Amino acid sequence: MTAMTSSARPADPAGTAARPPLNRRLAEFGTTIFAEMSALALRTGSINLGQGFPDTDGPEEIREAAVRALRDGRGNQYPPGPGVPELRAAITAHQLRRYGLTFDPDTEVLVTAGATEAIAAALLGLLEPGDEVVALEPYYDSYAACVAMAGGRRVPVTLRPHEGRFRLDLDELRAAVTDRTRLLLINTPHNPTGTVLTRAELTAIAELAVERDLLVVTDEVYEHLVFDDAEHLPLATFPGMRDRTVTIGSAGKTFSFTGWKVGWVTGTAELVTAVRSAKQFLTYVSSGPFQYAVAEALALPDTYFEEFRAGMRAKRDLLATGLTEAGFEVFRSAGTYFITTDIRPLRESDGFAFCRSLPERAGVVAIPNAVFYDHREAGAPFVRFAFCKRTEVLTDAAERLRKAFAG
Ligand SMILES: *Cc1c(COP(=O)(O)O)cnc(C)c1O
Repeated sequence: MTAMTSSARPADPAGTAARPPLNRRLAEFGTTIFAEMSALALRTGSINLGQGFPDTDGPEEIREAAVRALRDGRGNQYPPGPGVPELRAAITAHQLRRYGLTFDPDTEVLVTAGATEAIAAALLGLLEPGDEVVALEPYYDSYAACVAMAGGRRVPVTLRPHEGRFRLDLDELRAAVTDRTRLLLINTPHNPTGTVLTRAELTAIAELAVERDLLVVTDEVYEHLVFDDAEHLPLATFPGMRDRTVTIGSAGKTFSFTGWKVGWVTGTAELVTAVRSAKQFLTYVSSGPFQYAVAEALALPDTYFEEFRAGMRAKRDLLATGLTEAGFEVFRSAGTYFITTDIRPLRESDGFAFCRSLPERAGVVAIPNAVFYDHREAGAPFVRFAFCKRTEVLTDAAERLRKAFAG
């Protein structure tokens, strides 16, 4: 069940196989696929729909807020360890306004260097060596590495396609929990599948966590990017969950400033203290002036969030139509920046080979979902495309894909 191996390790060009790797815990991870694919995009002049970052910046007034903070000398020196008070207050106000959750800004909130550091600090702060972590597969690429750094063991539960969406098998989830399980690592809306966990799925996760007395770390960085009739329901709002859940958010995805690296954690004082105990020795603090700007961003009126979501939904539809017309099977993305496709209707079955050839064939770069799996064969035919790009870029990409595959 615990898959610590992988079939796609890089070769050993230096011929040093006889020597043990310098870092055995991380040896299996190699270089991320994004580096390889972005280099390929550059070399071939392809449209890069691999990595998920917007190609336009967020609201001008928020950029200006960062400039103002910097000029006014706010945040240019080490900000307070837990984050600047203005941002912590804005985070708690946001959790209350959106979800009816109350947190004490002094003890139950921690600002981090993006969600990435929040994930690392949560796992380093909460895991003991040998603890098992049950996580939804495919998973965001830092999860496996962070579980390994913390000395934990990851136990994947595979999301599988069912009637057009990737679904959580609740029996499989229950069966994955053992006496060694310390926590559940959840991500909704889910990268890379675009699945938004349903109320029934989240209820089952919550009941399991309570029954087996587990902690839950939930990555909700796409909380504002849900489409159509999908609804983002924070796990912390379910019965018995507020006291056992570490919720992770980020300004990067919500406000289109991924380079600012402002993330946060909310939870009980005890949980937040555990996360902070690791975080203080990672970056200690970060993003000083940007923290003030994000405090303003979180207080933007509802219209910002509605327009952002509607704009991103239109981009999703544009790319989904192009992919469908090119002959891919498209899983309707209910959230995030991403569309997952199945390449088997194109008579292809190996996502790695497909993505390596796609720049030559179509002038587009995508990511093979298999890199996000321990059970690589389960992810083999799936390929992920990012749609958080300008309309003209998506139109061009859709046209290239149609031309390459549908003549
Ligand atoms: C982008 C992303 C992150 C990282 O967020 P940062 O705030 O940029 O560190 C974490 N989790 C998921 C699922 C993501 O897609």
